[in-house]
Amino acid sequence: MLINLSQPRKDYFKRWDARRILLQFLDKKRIVPKDLLEVDIIVGTKEENLEQLLDGKSYQLDNQALVDKIKSLERDRLLILPAAYRIPAGESRELICYEMDSMVNLDKVMIRRALLDNNDPGRRLTVRQKEELNWHPEDVISTAFKYLNQHKDKYIDRKFIGYCWTGADKSLRVVPIMNNIKGAELRAFQNLAYYQLGIPRLEMEVESGINSATGEEFTRKELEKKRRKLSKYQAHLKSQRTEGKELSHYVAQLQVRQRDLIEPNKRGFKHSMGRNFIVPSKTNIYKEYNVKIVNIPMFEEEDPRIVSTVWDMFGECYCKDKNYRSDRKDTKLKEYYFCPHEIASLHGLKAMMEQEWEKRRIHSLPFLVPSKGMVDYVDKLRYRTVMLEKNPETDNMRIRALNDTEIGRLVMMKMIADPYEKNGVTDSKIFTRMKYDPHTGLVKFRE
Ligand SMILES: [Zn+2]
Repeated sequence: MLINLSQPRKDYFKRWDARRILLQFLDKKRIVPKDLLEVDIIVGTKEENLEQLLDGKSYQLDNQALVDKIKSLERDRLLILPAAYRIPAGESRELICYEMDSMVNLDKVMIRRALLDNNDPGRRLTVRQKEELNWHPEDVISTAFKYLNQHKDKYIDRKFIGYCWTGADKSLRVVPIMNNIKGAELRAFQNLAYYQLGIPRLEMEVESGINSATGEEFTRKELEKKRRKLSKYQAHLKSQRTEGKELSHYVAQLQVRQRDLIEPNKRGFKHSMGRNFIVPSKTNIYKEYNVKIVNIPMFEEEDPRIVSTVWDMFGECYCKDKNYRSDRKDTKLKEYYFCPHEIASLHGLKAMMEQEWEKRRIHSLPFLVPSKGMVDYVDKLRYRTVMLEKNPETDNMRIRALNDTEIGRLVMMKMIADPYEKNGVTDSKIFTRMKYDPHTGLVKFRE
């Protein structure tokens, strides 16, 4: 995600249209497809011939080669994709809602066998079996993608856009891959907002020894905790960014509001009752979403429910993304579709509990946090890629930016083409071992 600090907050998350992308390459008032011939380009077809596309002639695809082209796309190059990669809005909805083939199903027999070997019970696992066989999200998701990677010739041409599984309530959970990325970005942004808004409050608390929320004095243990937290954050603010300056330099320029922090509702809760969050809208600074998540897997370490409840989670958020949510025609069962707000809320709550060293906390989540390589790949598709397609009304060629479903499909192609860890992981401890802070890679600043 690119955050342009010279622009107002409401533009941080705005999707780039074709004109904005092309203006980086061409200084023209009106840009027509023929103008692309003047630009330094890479064409996403086997023939790599732009004129062939402009003339509307047929072409061939090579998805493995395309993934490599995107990965190695140089800074000053524009990628042009043919219309074969288009997934128009109506079709997106269908792929997400009705087409099971567009989702990698984590309950599938080959994934169970790859992970459990002889212990595979031969059918979808029960709650008890998940606990006994330690059906851990990172193991399950990594096994699924390793399997696809091992059989990439078979799967790379499939139109996958995410993954899914079925909970103990028999309802399907759907995670479009782009929502993983957008959720992680929203969480990274919220983290940056905290650095600007929360640290001064923390400094004041450490200095005065008084809890700013309750007005009460901290115990020595509490104060020590706060002090450790503060020095950790201060050190992080001094870290050097690849953009050239210390993180604090960019954080100071961010336009943030108190409401940009994702706030979980503090009252205690039962798992089955759910927990509420207020999540800021990415594009509308006056709007926020009320998110409720049920069955959050909050347990002490060693509790076997860690690996069963996690698969029964579901959220309620009434954002535009959720318009996609729909019950499959042939079943009366509910279907849950995780949106970026829900994913960001859960990442946020998990991190908050870890920072407070709470015993009862979230140990794992079934959401992929993208690697730096994956974030860069997505950003190339957002900011330096356009598609050439026929305008159905005029029959002329037109240029447009990719939508999220199209980007998600190309992300899934990379997930199949490249080894799992190169794309991301669900377990942040793996990133810590790799000495990589995923928040660092998720946001790029421009001044
Ligand atoms: Zn939402």
